Amino acid sequence: MEKGAIKGRFAPTPSGRMHLGNLLCALLAWLSARAEGGRVVLRIEDLDAMRSPRSYADLLEDDLRWLGLFWDEGGSSGGPDGPYYQSERTALYQAALARLEEQGLVYPCFCSRAQLHAAQAPHLSDGRVLYPGTCRDLTAQEVAQRRRQRPPALRLRVPDETVSFVDRHLGPYSENLQQECGDFLIRRSDGVFAYQLAVVVDDAAMGVTQVVRGADLLSSTPRQLYLYRLLGLPSPTFAHIPLLTAPDGRRLSKRDGDLDLGAIRRRLPGPEPLLGLLGWLCGLLERAEPVRAQDLVPLFSWDKIPQGDLSLPAALWELLE
Ligand code: GLU
Repeated sequence: MEKGAIKGRFAPTPSGRMHLGNLLCALLAWLSARAEGGRVVLRIEDLDAMRSPRSYADLLEDDLRWLGLFWDEGGSSGGPDGPYYQSERTALYQAALARLEEQGLVYPCFCSRAQLHAAQAPHLSDGRVLYPGTCRDLTAQEVAQRRRQRPPALRLRVPDETVSFVDRHLGPYSENLQQECGDFLIRRSDGVFAYQLAVVVDDAAMGVTQVVRGADLLSSTPRQLYLYRLLGLPSPTFAHIPLLTAPDGRRLSKRDGDLDLGAIRRRLPGPEPLLGLLGWLCGLLERAEPVRAQDLVPLFSWDKIPQGDLSLPAALWELLE
């Protein structure tokens, strides 16, 4: 790839069929890269291979093709920086872990989820519990003894430092790592690497220059920027996009089986009405008229995209339901 070239990506977790919120994310990530003449990477985030079978990843590719959101490298098409399935990239995460361990920043944590939730630790805005540091300073002897009872997860020690960045869409954002985030998991006790580590390793290894993703991941960004620094990797730019809500204000989620692409494709003859609806919701079109994905490329600009959650109008919701 030519140096300085723009590269965007869509990095879905295929734990179910895509819903409208995932589609909005795929669309805006694609438009943002294409509007700048950039390439698009499709990375399948199937770290938890049990919950993300290949059949879902294949369906996801089929949905993206149906939508006209073609990618240049990744997924089953492969490419120069593959494999593009996180389940096949463990050796890279292992190497990154070794670099963090060399810096003395990783420690084993034996706390169960139930113990953490029972602890009197503050809950963070995204529902996580601020890790109270229970296993931070265990002696070698305590570690050895606990290892006999259960395999540990691995946590990264964070400093009392504020990490700031300017989101391309939402503006300045900062978080104090120790007070607002806490020592965070980089590998689960079952050996599965955590999203935070994998996403940093992969975006850097794949030469991604811009990350566009849902606003629910805004508060992950300071942790990821900290990892970029520790690993000596160049960081991309970040833009966090609005989440879609149902007319009753509920956020769409895969778990609720909300309007997935399977149901939508059974109702619509082609993707154009849906792309028109999303283009209009995002302020790129004056009316929700049918369009192709590539018709939206020249209309794309971050200034037009709203910043808050986007509520699906009831009439359109009914049309699709
Ligand atoms: N795999 C994540 C998801 O599907 C997105 C990760 C990212 O875009 O950084 O929610």
